[in-house]
Amino acid sequence: MKIGIYPGSFDPITLGHLDIIIRASKLVDHLVIGVLTNISKKTIFTVEERVQFLNWVIKENNLESKVKVESFNGLLVDFAKAQNASFIVRGLRAVTDFDYELQLAQTNHKLVPEIDTIFFTTRLEYSYLSSSTVREIASFGGDIKQFVPECIVQSVYDKYKAIGSV
Ligand code: ADP
Repeated sequence: MKIGIYPGSFDPITLGHLDIIIRASKLVDHLVIGVLTNISKKTIFTVEERVQFLNWVIKENNLESKVKVESFNGLLVDFAKAQNASFIVRGLRAVTDFDYELQLAQTNHKLVPEIDTIFFTTRLEYSYLSSSTVREIASFGGDIKQFVPECIVQSVYDKYKAIGSV
């Protein structure tokens, strides 16, 4: 059985992430989305919220039989080993992603040679899209509907209302 891990902060999930999830899930028997809890950058959404958003999106896209969502802290390769994963899935948008992603993939391969990293290049329509863009627009009450899955739109706005930004 081929298991893939798609790790990230997903703060929040965007349509770019969803596109990678759908494409990667066709390549493996099971895809585990790993939501990072120990990232150095501070997230706007709690890990519970980020996991919940992902679960809503998985359900809405009928991916429940293939895709599950887990949070993790510590080393990615340890999480991948614990999940019996053969692959780590990452997305590449622009050349600016490349250096960081290459270093990460090579380091992970040194740590655990039996786990390989697979890169999906972004679809043209999502190449500009990042969670930080979504956060910026939402913080000013702008329209995020074309950037994130429909089922999370209201919760993203609610968060910014709750923190008093809009
Ligand atoms: P991280 O904090 O690990 O960068 P992100 O949630 O920002 O986590 O991204 C997780 C993965 O998804 C990364 O491999 C990133 O390159 C990829 N990704 C993010 N946005 C897009 C997009 N618009 N198209 C393709 N891949 C993307």
